[in-house]
Amino acid sequence: MGNKVAIVTGSSKGIGKAIALAFAKSKEYSAVVINSRKVEEAQEVSKEVNKLGCNSTAIEADVSKESDCIKLIEETVKYFGRIDVLVNNAGIQEDLPLTEINLEEWYKIIGVDLTGPFICSREAVKHMKTQHNPEGGCIINISSVHQAIPKPHYVPYATSKAGIEMMTKTMALELAKDNIRANIVAPGAIDTDMNAELRKNKAELQGVLKRIPLGRVASADEVANVVEFLASDKASYVTGASYFVDGGMTLYPSFGVTPEHETAELNSSGT
Ligand code: NAP
Repeated sequence: MGNKVAIVTGSSKGIGKAIALAFAKSKEYSAVVINSRKVEEAQEVSKEVNKLGCNSTAIEADVSKESDCIKLIEETVKYFGRIDVLVNNAGIQEDLPLTEINLEEWYKIIGVDLTGPFICSREAVKHMKTQHNPEGGCIINISSVHQAIPKPHYVPYATSKAGIEMMTKTMALELAKDNIRANIVAPGAIDTDMNAELRKNKAELQGVLKRIPLGRVASADEVANVVEFLASDKASYVTGASYFVDGGMTLYPSFGVTPEHETAELNSSGT
């Protein structure tokens, strides 16, 4: 068992859970902290991590709240003595046309998807800088193809993901002297609860599949594999990078103008 300590936000299910289990299986970690707002679900994942021979605890925290982020980092250091890897994975999205997004909704999504990673990173780096780990520290932000591809009806989400790209690059530059690396993993269409509705809607799913050169939705494990690599010493010279785990989706020229346009285009093209 290695000696690294990792926190994965939003790891009670989906991509975050897959990342936590991949870390535990890698044997590079002495502890992996599981986080979500619903602590019971996080505790179940924590038990799975334990079964793989890795220490773990579940910490309830809403990453859109500054005091919760501070608690998440402080409790990790209290339990496990250090923090080497932070994965800012917790994320939410909402399908709403621009004119129906009120300020509360805007702040809710920006709060989880952009402000949360900022606060957690700020607090984790305070420890990474002072714990004198020769291997440095590592931050991985889980973004989305929508940091690069505009997504109609998802203005706050796409804005957050684009913002996190520049946040990551800026942190990478600022923290390089401390040997703290900051990178992005940007998934495409992944089989999790977040897009369960989309996968149920055959027309919408076909519209998405048409834009994935590899022609399929991926598993959360396929994202976790890349995160595990980037967090490992094998990626010791990688910082400020965005790794798209999207089956080639970002190679596709563009999405439709609106979801209505997408459907019309799909019906007319027949390909
Ligand atoms: P998911 O299955 O919905 O899981 C989201 C996780 O985040 C859950 O553990 C959830 O638990 C937690 N969470 C939500 N709000 C939180 C908050 N305020 N504070 C702390 N934890 C919170 O989502 P996913 O598909 O795994 O997505 C994970 C990340 O990948 C997100 O950043 C998402 O934007 C990104 N992504 C996903 C896809 C995809 O196709 N699935 C594609 C591109 C990018 P609680 O609800 O109990 O808090």
